[in-house]
Amino acid sequence: HSVVKRITAGDVIQHPLSAVKELIENSLDAHSTNINVIIQDGGFKLIQVNDNGHGVRYEDLAIMCGRHTTSKLLKFEELMRLKTMGFRGEALSSISHLGDVTVTTITQGSVHGYRVSYKDGAMEHEPKPCAAVKGTQVTVENLFCNMAASKKALQNSHGDYKKIVDLVSRFALHHTNVSFSCRKYNANRPDVHTSVTSSRLDVIRSFYGIAVAGCLKEINVADSNPSPAVFEMQGFMSNATYAAKKMIMILFINDRLVEWSALQRAIEVVYTKKLHWASKPFVYISIVLPPGQIDVNMHATKKEVSILNQEAMMEQIMSMVESRLRSSKE
Ligand code: ADP
Ligand code: MG
Repeated sequence: HSVVKRITAGDVIQHPLSAVKELIENSLDAHSTNINVIIQDGGFKLIQVNDNGHGVRYEDLAIMCGRHTTSKLLKFEELMRLKTMGFRGEALSSISHLGDVTVTTITQGSVHGYRVSYKDGAMEHEPKPCAAVKGTQVTVENLFCNMAASKKALQNSHGDYKKIVDLVSRFALHHTNVSFSCRKYNANRPDVHTSVTSSRLDVIRSFYGIAVAGCLKEINVADSNPSPAVFEMQGFMSNATYAAKKMIMILFINDRLVEWSALQRAIEVVYTKKLHWASKPFVYISIVLPPGQIDVNMHATKKEVSILNQEAMMEQIMSMVESRLRSSKE
């Protein structure tokens, strides 16, 4: 097996955090309503994601960690709709080049499940029949252990764990119809625990505190003036009474957790400069775009989003944010 593959894999998965994100997105794609994450040593030793989704069919197990194998890319049109979050078939392949992957899965109506381990993109043995409850469990062990010392040097297991907790919280905040948990291996209590009955505000309160939750205004794109938007948008933003040192921006586009740094900067500027507030905002925005509006050829890590008509959209969002801020000052 080649070093090149390992390096390319390190490009897609740069940190245990990116592995956790990919695994959670796979669970969501599999229509799970319950996703549990277990982490050891900041994810470097162990990442385990359990879900109750539709499982992996026996015949798909052999190629599950193969490069560019995906069960999701049915046709181009579907790609444009981006109904599912994964579409490159690159995540599990990359992860299996960087660590030891074990999958236990059962599909609906099966009497037993299968367990199989992968290394460097291929199965290590035939899938073994095993007992399993509904869904899929993906275990990743010893991530980056075969990489140069540089990755290990960045390791800070408490800090890495906190980042993972924050990531799971963001998913929980958006996907209120899915229950999430995240805990350290061997810990009795989870650090994230939501249920399908938790409201979005409940989730915000429990992760970001009562102070934030008490200062939020609901936003939606109907507030944007004057032209009607071609996208749906809703969310929460903090008002003038909220004081924080660090901006928190949680953005989902078509149910995908993404970063849009230009928008984030613009919002921050509106809060801190134009309105002369010293405080940094808390913003949660969920945008739903019509098919074909997202550039699907974005970078493999899929973090920074690329949208067609980006400027027009940003203008509409900003005018809405500004008008909301003005009304919250009055
Ligand atoms: P992608 O998500 O881009 O298709 P991945 O490498 O993330 O590629 O996953 C490869 C394939 O493995 C998926 O297309 C899917 O068929 C299957 N898979 C991975 N995780 C799960 C899961 N939790 N439940 C069901 N199927 C899964
Ligand atoms: Mg995926």
